[in-house]
Amino acid sequence: MNLYIDFDGVIVDTISTTYKMLEELGIDTSFENPLAKEFYSNLDWVKLLDTTPQINNPFKNIKEIRKEGLYNPLFLPKINSIDEMDAKVEYIRKYDKDIPIIFVPKNSNKSTMVNTHNSILVDDSDWNLYNWKESGGIPVKFSPKEDPNFITIQSLEELNKPKFMKRLIRKL
Ligand SMILES: [Mg+2]
Repeated sequence: MNLYIDFDGVIVDTISTTYKMLEELGIDTSFENPLAKEFYSNLDWVKLLDTTPQINNPFKNIKEIRKEGLYNPLFLPKINSIDEMDAKVEYIRKYDKDIPIIFVPKNSNKSTMVNTHNSILVDDSDWNLYNWKESGGIPVKFSPKEDPNFITIQSLEELNKPKFMKRLIRKL
């Protein structure tokens, strides 16, 4: 079973970091705001990734998931620019030499880039998750807060646990 994993807000806590930067600049954080769009397009992603903490040992957990063999993990991150793509590849390859990475241009849907059928998407964005569900995939919300609309996890480690499996089987 393919397990597509988002990057920002799931692997690295870039969402909190960039929101703080936007607030300091007095820019509204909504993605529709042209100033916020410009901010994300011009961001120094190498520096941002170097200074932002990872969330709950993601790369160790992905190695465990691969070893367990139930899922085929792949990254499915969105990108605003080619520089961001370069920075993310370089960053990911420092920790995992094998995982496939499929980049999604900011104005495309994740569900149009890959086959969603019987595939899981772990993402922190409700919008991406609803779109994934509408396209026949299985959405899993990554969040510290339980979301009644989705199966919710706060660490990738949970994907290998019986509690998650039980909930997943009900969705299949
Ligand atoms: Mg995200």
